[in-house]
Amino acid sequence: MKKTQLIMIWFLPLILIGGLFSPLLGYLVVGMMAIFLMLAVFKGRFWCWHLCPRGAFLDIVVSKISLNKPVPRLFTKEWFRWLIFVLFLLVISLRIINAGGNFFAIGAVFVSACIITTVIALALGVTTKHRSWCVICPMGNLQEKIGRIRLKK
Ligand code: SF4
Repeated sequence: MKKTQLIMIWFLPLILIGGLFSPLLGYLVVGMMAIFLMLAVFKGRFWCWHLCPRGAFLDIVVSKISLNKPVPRLFTKEWFRWLIFVLFLLVISLRIINAGGNFFAIGAVFVSACIITTVIALALGVTTKHRSWCVICPMGNLQEKIGRIRLKK
């Protein structure tokens, strides 16, 4: 557990619970996405291991209750990770379009995406390894790809 994680973990309940009352908190997710994409250019998956609120939750809380079973092999397949990434992007894009430019509704899209993916991350984390979700997380994989491009240069 890192000191930064002890701070960042609090953003998770803020977004998940606070977001139910104020959808504008969804824009915190957007801000975080912008930060980790910039970080990924220079430091690969630094965000994942040090700053991600959900990663901190998985490391600090879920690791204590995880059954620690192997990660499903399907998760390690590149095509499957891409499939999750494309599906995630598609669903988010469609929901943003459906929001019709409403600032609050767009914020709510990010809050609900955070809630749904956290529930999945929790279920996977308890029944398999605590960081199983991170193997297929679209945002984690995006950082990894950006990091790889950086290393190739
Ligand atoms: S893989 Fe996703 S959930 Fe896991 S630490 Fe990275 S951004 Fe957070």
